[in-house]
Amino acid sequence: MLAERVVRSTCPFCGVGCQVDLHVRDEVIYRVSAPYDAAPNYGMLCVKGRFGTDFTSHPSRLTSPLIRVNTSEPRSAPPVWRQAGWDEALDLVADRLAAIVRESGGDAIAGFACAKATNEDNYLLQKMVRAVLGTNNIDHCSRLCHAGSVAGLQLAIGSSAMSNSIAEMEHLDTFIVTGSNTTETHPVISNFLKRAVRQHGARLIVVDPRKIEMTDFATLWLRQRPGTDVAVWQAMAHVVVKERLYNDRFIQERTEGFSDYVESLEAFTPEWAEEVSGVPAESIRQAARMYATATAASVYWGMGISQSSHGTDNTLAITNLALMCGQLGREGTGLNPLRGQNNVQGCSDSGGLPYVYTAYQRVEDSAIRARFSQAWNRSDLNPTPGLMITELADAALAGAVRAFFVMGEDPLTSEPNLNHARHALEKLDFLVCQDIFLNTTAELADVVLPSVSFAEKDGTFTNSDRRIQRVRTALPSVGESRPDWVIVCDLARRLEARLGQSPSAGFDYRHPSEIWEEMRRLTPDFGGIDYDRLEREGGVHWPCPAQDHPGSPYLFKDDFPRGRGKFWKLEYGTESELPDDEYPFILSTGRVLYHWHGGTLSRRSKLDEIWPEATVELHPDDGAQLGVETGDWVEVASRRGAIRLRVMVSERSPRGTVFIPFHFVEAAANLLTLDRLDPRAKIPDFKVCAVRLAKTEPPPGRDPESDRPLTERGAIKDQAALVH
Ligand code: SF4
Repeated sequence: MLAERVVRSTCPFCGVGCQVDLHVRDEVIYRVSAPYDAAPNYGMLCVKGRFGTDFTSHPSRLTSPLIRVNTSEPRSAPPVWRQAGWDEALDLVADRLAAIVRESGGDAIAGFACAKATNEDNYLLQKMVRAVLGTNNIDHCSRLCHAGSVAGLQLAIGSSAMSNSIAEMEHLDTFIVTGSNTTETHPVISNFLKRAVRQHGARLIVVDPRKIEMTDFATLWLRQRPGTDVAVWQAMAHVVVKERLYNDRFIQERTEGFSDYVESLEAFTPEWAEEVSGVPAESIRQAARMYATATAASVYWGMGISQSSHGTDNTLAITNLALMCGQLGREGTGLNPLRGQNNVQGCSDSGGLPYVYTAYQRVEDSAIRARFSQAWNRSDLNPTPGLMITELADAALAGAVRAFFVMGEDPLTSEPNLNHARHALEKLDFLVCQDIFLNTTAELADVVLPSVSFAEKDGTFTNSDRRIQRVRTALPSVGESRPDWVIVCDLARRLEARLGQSPSAGFDYRHPSEIWEEMRRLTPDFGGIDYDRLEREGGVHWPCPAQDHPGSPYLFKDDFPRGRGKFWKLEYGTESELPDDEYPFILSTGRVLYHWHGGTLSRRSKLDEIWPEATVELHPDDGAQLGVETGDWVEVASRRGAIRLRVMVSERSPRGTVFIPFHFVEAAANLLTLDRLDPRAKIPDFKVCAVRLAKTEPPPGRDPESDRPLTERGAIKDQAALVH
């Protein structure tokens, strides 16, 4: 079949940011291919990018605004909707939000930015929240994924993005992968890392409790008990000090606090760490020597490091080791938190955080605030950082926050301790959701606004390695749906009129390129990047301060944003909820290859036929003890809730630890997880909580055909990344 048109764009799933060619016929994407000459993927795609974009033509796409009719009933009642026109829906939203601003102030409203939407969409939402509503209550799901990494890296070096480009991966000398099931969460990146090992002889150290596929490529695998990362990394630093393997010159010229830190390491012996983590002391020594003596060494990590009540400490422990060994500031060296969603990096960069404008410019800084005040015609921008997503549930329950405006997020899938989050949403006076599907959160909303998918709009995404790339319109909008930026502009103008704000902060754009121009004027790091350049070069890594600047594939050649890198003394803590007689297993949550995040997109694509239901991964010894096999049903319960799902017996999880993906709303892993927060990053402990398991019957009304064990349908046998 010949395409009527082929449109180059960026994959809407993970943070690798693969370039895709969308082949369109009869207004449907019928094929996706990858250009062989375009970074960052050079012809590769994983199963999601190749086969998962059919969600764009799913019949359940939202096509017109919806207004809840049964508002006299509790919000928990099944919603009754009626379709509405845009004017009626936006007038209602503007009336209600303006009334709350007048009655309780702007801080009584919170905006949720969207890691799936474009930079331009997110910039405008935070502009509306800050300049029109007058609050810094704007946050997004990076709080739930890499907040621990961001907080730790900001403290130690003053920058939280990946320090190195994907292009460097294939030529690595030595690297560590920790807390990242890379083959399933960042499949194309994993392919470059595997090539580094198999084709170029790189040495890989994996530090992970699960026997993930990357362990097949590892020179050394440290299998720590979940939640004991700080012990392992501190012990590696101890070895480096004791064996004088540190980089004296780098420490002298580029860091501060080393001697204090060295003193604090005395108790962190490998033998102590072995007792705490289960990793043999000798393996810790080998890993420390391998990393410290490498010509160049990098660390790559994922949620396993950051999604923890001590996620900031985990990151600081890794950063301490890198600073000590001088493994920063050169190609192939660095600190690399692999960002999850397609534009989670860009959403943060665009100001979708409660304490910063674009590119991490602090709201408390009066000079920075003055620049934004002038650009937005507002003399009264709020200097106080807003609430973080993980603080909003309690704020809503206390009545301090009365309304949420949720753009493209589904907090009732992604928040920890979902029963608590649901109670908070039920307490709100007003809830608006803007999305392409009616997700779990939207079912509680007063108004639902239909937006468009990545394939129906223009703009930019920023991938995990800070590369800004174009998103281009390939399909017409579905029904009456509109791009997020168009909806936000329209709403912001209506709000300004009701609040008597004149002159306007500026919401008259004809194209996302005009929004980007405003962003780059206000953001020195984006100054050299415009749409013409993106058209010519395909993508540019920020920081890029000028048109003749080449962009920054790797960072920190001469200095760190905070000046000197700072060593942080750490203590080993066990704040996590650990197993006991009543709840004897550790639960860890995460992703599988075939699905993405809360499943809003991937579960409405053909991918759902490959992996259609939730599973709990369980070690064979634990399965035998519980009397269950692959395909049996179990109830998994924590102190906060219970879910019913199938067993998948596998040696990937260690004894005593079970793993559940969080994509499945009907068996939502986050009903079980703990909302205990890292004190600095406010990120919950998604990777460690205590649960119990008991064999049970299938849920009532199950179709016998779909009740066959997944292995018979072949879904679970194939864990390969399916990189084509
Ligand atoms: Fe899309 Fe990520 Fe797969 Fe690339 S690796 S095709 S960006 S999901």
